[in-house]
Amino acid sequence: MQKIFSIAIDGPAGAGKSTVARAAAQALGAMYLDTGAMYRTVGLYFLRKNLLENPDEIARRVDGVSVQVKFEGGAQHMLLENEDVTEAIRTPEASMAASAVGAVPEVRAYLVRLQQETAKGISIVMDGRDIGTKVLPNATLKLYLTATAEVRALRRYAELREKGETPAFHSVLDDIVERDYNDMHRAASPLQRAEDAHLLDTSNMTLKQALDAVVQLAREAIGA
Ligand code: C5P
Repeated sequence: MQKIFSIAIDGPAGAGKSTVARAAAQALGAMYLDTGAMYRTVGLYFLRKNLLENPDEIARRVDGVSVQVKFEGGAQHMLLENEDVTEAIRTPEASMAASAVGAVPEVRAYLVRLQQETAKGISIVMDGRDIGTKVLPNATLKLYLTATAEVRALRRYAELREKGETPAFHSVLDDIVERDYNDMHRAASPLQRAEDAHLLDTSNMTLKQALDAVVQLAREAIGA
């Protein structure tokens, strides 16, 4: 029997983390957990309550917010107070809301606990901003995926166009740059590469090439 393993993938928005993590999990027979979706769900809750500007209130209330991760046919669904918000959290407003609530230490403590509980006893690939540094400090393999802001914005832009949206490229780029800045400069678990994380710059790689590199590193680390 294969031993249980965990793979931590961190990096800025649009580096290809979720696409690579999902496909790597499938190739390795592990579960995939998108932790950004959890921050987006909490962000949506406080966006709807009009409380994003009030971190003290967010800190006070977060433990009472019902956030559930459900897996259906291999796809991750997010439930907020029993409402399926899987689609609703994929808007630029929800991205910014996620970044705002992610700066509140009580939100991080709440979600890190949920993430660690989910990972218990199973093989998992998790992506986010603090997986290698905080959530899975003893992960079998840690990766830090990155790419230039322009390449990352282009990927996001293409994704949004594919969904039928027509954003201005400069606003997608501005959002990415602002979110990176917030994520890297917040006091609570800022986005940073874990000392023992492999650095993978995907600027000049296709996602398939990035996936192949990750799966190879994973097989070496697992000893498969
Ligand atoms: O990964 P995604 O872009 O969906 O994440 C949305 C936001 O959630 C990030 O910009 C970041 O502020 C926050 N986040 C975080 N820690 C994680 C995952 C996401 O702070 N582990």
